[in-house]
Amino acid sequence: MLTFTVTDLKQYTFCPRIVYYTYCLPLIRPMTYKMRAGIEAHDAAEGLERRRNLSAYGLQQGERRFDVPLVSERLGLSGKVDMVIRVLAGEGSVAEVIPVEYKHSPGRAGHHLFLQLTAYALMLEGEGEGVVRRGFLYFIPSRRTQEVAITPALRRDVVGQLRAMREMVEREAMPGPPRRRARCVTCEFRRFCNDV
Ligand code: SF4
Repeated sequence: MLTFTVTDLKQYTFCPRIVYYTYCLPLIRPMTYKMRAGIEAHDAAEGLERRRNLSAYGLQQGERRFDVPLVSERLGLSGKVDMVIRVLAGEGSVAEVIPVEYKHSPGRAGHHLFLQLTAYALMLEGEGEGVVRRGFLYFIPSRRTQEVAITPALRRDVVGQLRAMREMVEREAMPGPPRRRARCVTCEFRRFCNDV
């Protein structure tokens, strides 16, 4: 089964055509200034996070792991979550596992980010980490955290989106542009789309 990445899932929500380009026309993927700047900001945020305590997440204690690779054969999905917090309950047992994703935007959390966190939650559960009830987004520019509940609806949405992505790639059918063309303005694929 074709294995997508969590980034693919997020981009499919942004515009399905990006995933089409990635898998059906893989030679045209550009690396933009925005993408490079994002990688550098992520590295800086991780350095700061290692020195902070967990109060930004409303937690007294917890073990942190950074850049945790995850994979699910069942979902056909892989990814690397920025941070995983394991809240310990005593005697080595784990009370809660929480995925955290850093964002470079000022603080607007769209549905695509909720799906991204949910995808990490499903993969953590698949690796035997127990039920993941919530995750956090950490917005680097504003240093703001946002809690996201991992709901049944979000879980169903992740599975449904992955199914639709797989069908699209197997049919090699280029989808239309998104309804909101504002998304095209900063899209790194814009020069390949002649209809927007
Ligand atoms: S330019 Fe617009 S239609 Fe083309 S891939 Fe980007 S978001 Fe999608």
